[in-house]
Amino acid sequence: MRVQSYIRQRNGLSAELISVEIELSLQPGLPQIHILGLPDAALRESTLRIRSAIRSQGFRMPQGSQVLVHLRPSHLRKSSRGLDLAVAAALLWEMRQIPPPPPDSIPVVYGALTLGGEVEIPDDAEELTPEPGTVVITGRSSSYSMAPVELPYASWRLSQLRDLEKAPLVSAAQNEVKFQRPLATAQSFPLAASRVAEVVAAGEHSVLVAGPPGSGKSTLVESVAAWLEEPNVVGPASRCFAKAESGCAWRPVVRPHHSITPLAMIGGGGQLWAGEISRAHSGVLIMDELLEFHPEIQESLREPMETGSITITRAGRSKTFPSRFLALATTNLCECGQYVPGARALSKCRCSRAQRRRSRARLTGPFADRFAVLTFSDGWLGAKAATTKAAEATKARTAVEVGERVAKAIDFRRQIREQRVANAYLDSAQIEAGLTSFQRAMLQDTFGNGLSLRRRDSVLRLARTFADLRQSVTLSHQDLDEAIHLGLHGHLLLDEWRE
Ligand SMILES: [Zn+2]
Repeated sequence: MRVQSYIRQRNGLSAELISVEIELSLQPGLPQIHILGLPDAALRESTLRIRSAIRSQGFRMPQGSQVLVHLRPSHLRKSSRGLDLAVAAALLWEMRQIPPPPPDSIPVVYGALTLGGEVEIPDDAEELTPEPGTVVITGRSSSYSMAPVELPYASWRLSQLRDLEKAPLVSAAQNEVKFQRPLATAQSFPLAASRVAEVVAAGEHSVLVAGPPGSGKSTLVESVAAWLEEPNVVGPASRCFAKAESGCAWRPVVRPHHSITPLAMIGGGGQLWAGEISRAHSGVLIMDELLEFHPEIQESLREPMETGSITITRAGRSKTFPSRFLALATTNLCECGQYVPGARALSKCRCSRAQRRRSRARLTGPFADRFAVLTFSDGWLGAKAATTKAAEATKARTAVEVGERVAKAIDFRRQIREQRVANAYLDSAQIEAGLTSFQRAMLQDTFGNGLSLRRRDSVLRLARTFADLRQSVTLSHQDLDEAIHLGLHGHLLLDEWRE
């Protein structure tokens, strides 16, 4: 297990980033922590503190093996006040006493430990200069002050060693803002799935795909990111455009792990930092396993999904960050993953009603309502499996075909309809324009009985995209019909789901 931390050379003015690697070595004798790579006396003494902290927090030291800590580069004599936490964390991850971070990420850890396992911020922590985008795992306050110390960079704050279990360790790769057009998958999509994908990508409508594992949910949302409109001068892609000179080739694709904290996701902290949702601005925010995200995150996402920005207020100060992103989310609806509400329900689900009720409670109505499309993926696979529908299964579109259809729809919208922003960003007046009296009656029939105005607007935006896919300036009844199906029925099924 390898982490990174900071050391100071004896006469060094600034802290330097080093690699800290833990190795468990089967050697006789009482288990000890051996720090290799020219530690100074203070660092050698820290091993007692690390051992004590680990035990006090209810973890164990390895038995029958020695802990070797390699500090690299090894030729410099080193001192550090923040290596305690780095060694303890690496050891707990190495021994799997705490789920380790994803293999492609190297956490940066800098904190001091007390004998009881409390984590403190070393007094030189404010001087660190981590690379932009790095999140430093450290303590909450320093030993001489109980007040939380403010740091001029992103950090995860632990009160005690045990908090590591809760610390969101987002894979560096998952977390990376990609500025390359992602590759669309080589596979093909069942017709129903491809229909969802093309309307979502062409109109930038947010989508929640619920359904059993293995039904292609993730593949679908990944592909959508690749088919989006290219970053352009106006509209939500403006941030990317601003970066064009420095090599921005694509819109950001941010995919936080579900263990992320509300603070890291939404933003906040002493310095009012922007969160992941603002890094996704003008691009895509992918949320896998949506129900596993912290409930507070669902709550906080409602504002940016509605307005395209987020205002964070803390201790009387507030700051607004742009957060206009295309939300692409996937989830199971129960623990075994097989449940979907509606007529097909319960066929394969092995969960108890109480279990399903618990899962259901994790998705709040107002949050689900922010998604333009709520669709169930079980039908996609069903079409493949059912022999009576064998013909359906052969109806599939390749990723390339879907991508071409999306590109044509976007071109049509830009060149023929001369509309520069995606349909998802049209305001109420724009989407009402040009409706026939029959269509108004159709909407009145559907939405007259107390359904939310948000759903109605959302359905109309979807209908516009269906028309774009047909290269038509006017909406047909079928566009509206299909939009009602995709933009309303899923939401209704979820609303009516009671256990
Ligand atoms: Zn189930």
